[in-house]
Formats: sequence, structure tokens, C-alpha cells
Amino acid sequence: MSAKIETKCIHEGWRPKKGEPRQLPIYQSTTFKYDTSDEMGKLFDLEEEGYFYSRLSNPTTDAVADKICALEGGYAAILTSSGQAANFFAVFNICEAGDHILSSSSIYGGTYNLFGVTLKKMGIDCTFVDPDLPEEELAKYIKPNTKAVFGETITNPTVSILDIEKFTHLAHSHGVPLIVDNTFATPVNCRPIEWGADIVVHSTTKYMDGHSVTLGGCVVDSGNFDWTAYPDKFPGLTTPDESYHGITYTERFGKGAYITKITSQLMRDLGAVQTPQNAFYLNLGLESLPLRIQRHCENALAVAKFLKNHEKVLWVHYAGLEGDKYHDLAQKYMPSGTCGVLSFAVKGGRQSSIDFMDKLKFISIVTHVADAKSCILHPASHTHRQMTDEQLREAGVEPDLIRLSVGIENIDDIIADIAQALE
Ligand SMILES: *Cc1c(COP(=O)(O)O)cnc(C)c1O
Repeated sequence: MSAKIETKCIHEGWRPKKGEPRQLPIYQSTTFKYDTSDEMGKLFDLEEEGYFYSRLSNPTTDAVADKICALEGGYAAILTSSGQAANFFAVFNICEAGDHILSSSSIYGGTYNLFGVTLKKMGIDCTFVDPDLPEEELAKYIKPNTKAVFGETITNPTVSILDIEKFTHLAHSHGVPLIVDNTFATPVNCRPIEWGADIVVHSTTKYMDGHSVTLGGCVVDSGNFDWTAYPDKFPGLTTPDESYHGITYTERFGKGAYITKITSQLMRDLGAVQTPQNAFYLNLGLESLPLRIQRHCENALAVAKFLKNHEKVLWVHYAGLEGDKYHDLAQKYMPSGTCGVLSFAVKGGRQSSIDFMDKLKFISIVTHVADAKSCILHPASHTHRQMTDEQLREAGVEPDLIRLSVGIENIDDIIADIAQALE
């Protein structure tokens, strides 16, 4: 469909035929029926497409994955049980023990732990780098066993902007794909594949759902990375998979190789599947995504301006603000807006930030972000609690940083709540 994004958010994915439900049906079934043993056998051999068990695929979840794929301009996509599962699968699909990845150090705390601690236990090493370094500096950290480069378009919680083209160039000139977490920008404001990224991941838990209803994730593959050009680097895709009668994913599935491997290997063995019910809720969220994103951005810019001019505020980071360190990158990669999240600090240090938060009325303290309801969090006391001060600074998170996720309530009410708490 060559329509604009608002139309795609409504009409991509589920396309009812004559007499079928207008809204995406929930196929609440673990399994699917066949008439002959041979018919089902062909599905197990990946010789024919079809549904047989919902750990591998389900019509409801597939329709929503197809919608997100279309929004990002990808070739194929799969939903996962959470954003963490999406990030894990995106990397683990092309890495094994003995491999290495290069990641921006300004990333979501959960992903930082996943890469720095859990992948390490599996024998995959990660080097975290300052994403603002020039490309020549970044290139020094690439090793012969590096299999992927990773970054976030808008970082959580420091809301800095990734120079996607710089990272694409870095990855491609070393024969590896760029994986980008596009959770905060959403495809409404930025489509990393258009800037050369190969794989896009999402925590759909955030703006895509948008109502704090359901956890979820998505991996979208552009289909553009040529795995066969580097067969020694990606043997999992370019050599026979003995657990599938010797299928070679790139030979059999071409541009679909990467996502087919996630489905048939990682989902089969690890099972971090999205449920049809949750995919249905996610689809409702996607229908109104462009409207909400527009309002989130308008409200956040107004709040950022208010905070910037307030005497009790030490600093504000919001790339939508003129003069912000990342304003130019934001103008380039997301000219219609960044997101509803901003970070700032109240004068008086860590304790003043905590006192301010406790005085808020409807803006609630929750471990959530990118939601219709305005919410707030102090990473050093909450999400990033496990990190040392040194690790916090390495990730660009100051101990007094407050992350404010501006919702879609009336802007006068949001500012009034912040103003009374600052007083
Ligand atoms: C929340 C978040 C994640 C993790 O997603 P979950 O759905 O909570 O597992 C990953 N990346 C970013 C940028 C996030 O904001």
C-alpha cells in the first residue's frame, strides 16, 4: 500500500475479504487443523506456508506484525512477548558464543544489562561506545568477530538522537548490519530503514500500545542486508540448519531469511511469543498512533519551553527545543517531531528532584513511559537502580535526571501540575 502513514496505521495488516469481520479477529487458538498428515508435514519442513502452532505463528499476531512492517518500510517482521525479547532475538539471531557486538552506550537500562551481563554469560561480548564520537573513533572498537552495531534513534532516558547515517556507514563498511531500536520515535516520526538501518526493533509496550495495557515487542527486517556477501560471518543464515533438514535460510528464503530464522529457530526453542489477545490490543493502539504522537510532541515541546524558562530548573534536554545539543540531528531525522519524553533536573541536586516528583498530583510516578497518561520517573532511584554512578554517567544518566513522559492531557493542566510542584 503506497498510502500515507495515518492510512497505513488503520488499513495495513488485517484485510478482510467478503463477509469477514471488519476488525482484526482474535484467533484464540493454540493450534490449526489439517486434513492429511502429509499436509501438516510440509509445514514442519517449511515447504509450505500455513499455521500449525501459535508458538511459531498465529493469524492475529501476524497481521499486526505485517502492519508494523509496513509502517517501517520493512520486508518482514515478527512480534515478540516484550521489547526485551525483541532486542535479544534481533542480536542472538546472528551472534553466538565467541562473537562481539558494538552498542551505543546511551540505551535503555534493560538493554544495557541484556548486552553487558546476560549476553556476556552466553559468550557474546559487547563494547559500549559514546555514540557522539566521530566515525573514525567508533571504528576502532570494531573487531574481526563483530557481528552487529546497535543504537536507539531516541535514547531512553537521556533523549539524545542517534546519527543513523553515521552508524549505518560504520556498520556497512565493516560488513555487519545496523540494528536500531526505534521505540521512542515510532515510524510516525522516523523510519530508520530509509536512512540505511537494516533491522528495526520496538518495545511496542510504549507509544504503539500507548495506553499501558500490554507488553510487546517487534523485530522488523528491511531485507536489505546481503548476508551471503559475508558467509563466514553469518553461518547461521548461510549454511544448512541441521535442525531443519539442512535448510539454508538465505538460499530458501532470500530477503525473508532473517525473520524466518527467528520464527523457526528462536521462537521454536525459546518461545517468547506475543499472544493473539495482546496483539489485538496493540493493533487498537496502532490505529490512533499518528494522532497521539502529534499531540505528545506538541505537549512535550510546550513543557520543555516552560521548564527551560523556570528559575528552579537546572537544565532540560528535549531535541525539539531550539538550541538543544541534538536539535540539528532531530531536524534531519525526525522533522515532524521527536517524541513526548524529555529529561530535566531541578536545582538542588538529587533530593530536590525526588521532592519535586512527590508533589505532583495527576502526573504519576510509574515505571513506564510513552503513554497517553503523563508519567515521571527518576532513573537513578528506579530503572537504573542496579547501576553504579560510573555506569550511570557512562550511559549519560546524571543522578539528578528526571524523565518526564508528557501525555495527551490538556497542556494547561499538565503545566499547572508541574508549576505547583516546582513551587
Ligand atoms: C521499554 C524499552 C525496552 C524494553 O521493552 P519491554 O517491552 O519493557 O520489554 C527496550 N527499548 C526501549 C527503548 C524501551 O523504552
